[in-house]
Amino acid sequence: MSTATEQRTFDSLSPATGAVVGTHPIQDAAAVRAAVADAEPAAAWWGALDWAERRRRLLDYKAVVTRDIARVVDMVHQETGKPKADATLEVILAITHIDWAARNARKVLGPRRVSPGMVGVNLAATLEYLPLGVVGVIGPWNYPVFTPMGSIAYALAAGNAVVFKPSELTPGVGVLLADLFAESVPEQPVLRTVTGLGETGAALAGDPGIKKIAFTGSTATAKRVMAACAENLTPLVAECGGKDALIVDADANVPAAADAALWGAMSNSGQTCVGVERVYVVDAVYDDFMRELTGRAANVRAGQDYGPVTMPAQIDVIRRHIDDAVATGKVVLGGPESVREPYVDPVIVEDVPEDSPAVREETFGPTLTVRRVADAEEALALANASAYGLAGTIFSGDVRRAMALARRMRSGMTAINSVISFASIPALPFGGVGDSGFGRIHGADGLREFARPKAVSRQRFGLPGMNLTSFTRGQAELDRLVKLVTFLHGRRKR
Ligand code: NDP
Repeated sequence: MSTATEQRTFDSLSPATGAVVGTHPIQDAAAVRAAVADAEPAAAWWGALDWAERRRRLLDYKAVVTRDIARVVDMVHQETGKPKADATLEVILAITHIDWAARNARKVLGPRRVSPGMVGVNLAATLEYLPLGVVGVIGPWNYPVFTPMGSIAYALAAGNAVVFKPSELTPGVGVLLADLFAESVPEQPVLRTVTGLGETGAALAGDPGIKKIAFTGSTATAKRVMAACAENLTPLVAECGGKDALIVDADANVPAAADAALWGAMSNSGQTCVGVERVYVVDAVYDDFMRELTGRAANVRAGQDYGPVTMPAQIDVIRRHIDDAVATGKVVLGGPESVREPYVDPVIVEDVPEDSPAVREETFGPTLTVRRVADAEEALALANASAYGLAGTIFSGDVRRAMALARRMRSGMTAINSVISFASIPALPFGGVGDSGFGRIHGADGLREFARPKAVSRQRFGLPGMNLTSFTRGQAELDRLVKLVTFLHGRRKR
């Protein structure tokens, strides 16, 4: 951090080399206030455009990001350290979400007539979803394009302006995303980025002009954000951490399950909210699974197959969990020596007690705990015995059984016979339960998250002898109503 210039600034650093990637202002509460105040007329302008025009602008933004993908990928690579191939996949996923949000906003949110019901036979009823105004988006660093775009694209498509506070580790990505948007929407600051540290995010959450906060980050920070939101009764969608489990059933395709568990746990250096952190394997296939898993893991290395740990402080958590797992369980691969800052090689440990930090707390590193279970029921019970409830994975040869297990998994999303596949389907809502947060991004639910329902009822004609909302109403009208309601609703079903 530097105070050499008049405005305080901070540097974003490459986690791989420590080199300075960029220098950005630390925007204080007054700067955040000014950004939100600028965004208010922009929200009014953007919200007043018709659906077709907003769709056209958003699809143009999608094209701008797509054509500039190399620049976006390079910034993600520099600020997070992740390999460019992984950054490319991340940006492509985000592009598919901008596309879906743009193309589906009108269908999901636009005005439609709804049935007034028999008692309202003389009424016409319409429902539409109106923009909220200025939405504040607070994002993390692990997927600095995909994750915030899950809120930004949907909030914009719903007709809101967005003020985006990226993580202090990835401010350059945030600034670039807003700069590219200005190429498609130059007239008004409909999407703008404010940079800074945690206090900048806190100022955004507490700003009275913000009509909703979309927060993605840790559960602990979500609680602070929620407290700041409470000041103005600002609603919040909270996408927090996870401790996701992968279940391997007796009839599963074991090599595929092992491959998925390894990638789900180690890719992006384990810094994935919906990454695999725990595996429960049914006894019948346990030994096969472990053979497949360790065989594949032996060839995977940090710095070669995935990047460094992006946030230096996370190394302490990862190290603590590895030490705990190694002390209480049986090491299958790696150990404390796997931590080669800023890199961490894969660590796999069996039989770590279920109440230990390595099994209960989010590690956010390339580690995996594996446990043998009697059957899928025991696996599900252990998977569900977590304060978190973000996502999960089931490998099974029986589709009906897998679907039944998925429904009973206490999580917002479950992938069957694949890992994290739900995140690539824009129509599916994304979000968790419990300590993993509440509210949804992506899909129709994600669009409605950033809009307020507006209900209008219009009387088309008066019903003679049925004026119920008047002091002129008499007993005869009430009797007629009771007769009608008894006819409609009074038949018992046995
Ligand atoms: P943090 O909770 O540390 O930070 C998230 C964001 O909040 C950052 O922009 C941060 O700014 C900002 N912030 C920090 N303090 C405050 C405050 N008091 N008020 C408002 N904003 C604040 O999370 P990380 O960035 O470390 O991200 C990792 C976490 O995110 C993991 O727990 C992961 O599971 C979760 N995550 C969840 C996802 C989901 O969709 N459910 C997706 C991706 C990640 P600054 O960086 O400047 O401190």
